[in-house]
Amino acid sequence: MGHQSNTWNLSDQFKQKVLDSFEDGLTAKEVSIKLYDDYLRETGCTLNRNICIGIKFRAGKCIKSNNNHNFSYQRKNKLYEELEGFVLRKCLCCHREQWIEENFRICTTCKQSESFRFASSIL
Ligand SMILES: [Zn+2]
Repeated sequence: MGHQSNTWNLSDQFKQKVLDSFEDGLTAKEVSIKLYDDYLRETGCTLNRNICIGIKFRAGKCIKSNNNHNFSYQRKNKLYEELEGFVLRKCLCCHREQWIEENFRICTTCKQSESFRFASSIL
């Protein structure tokens, strides 16, 4: 017992140091090296990158990066919205909603793929 449960009994001060280091752009491994001594002093355990990622995750910072992913997806949509002649419709080939040229029924990805040649032969 003991050693692992210590991880989540860390002081807020230490957790903040971990988060700040991530904010500074350090990788989990770099954070674990930087704060190794602090962690040892506080818990008597050795700090590794998984613990750093765990602290970051618990603070909800990992969820934030998912939001960034969604943001870039929305930006991509916006880009297409502004492109003339593209409409959002279900691709006849892959059956996913895609931005497709107004006069087409097949998305760009499928057009370039082998399956489009098959699909176009039966349309
Ligand atoms: Zn498609």
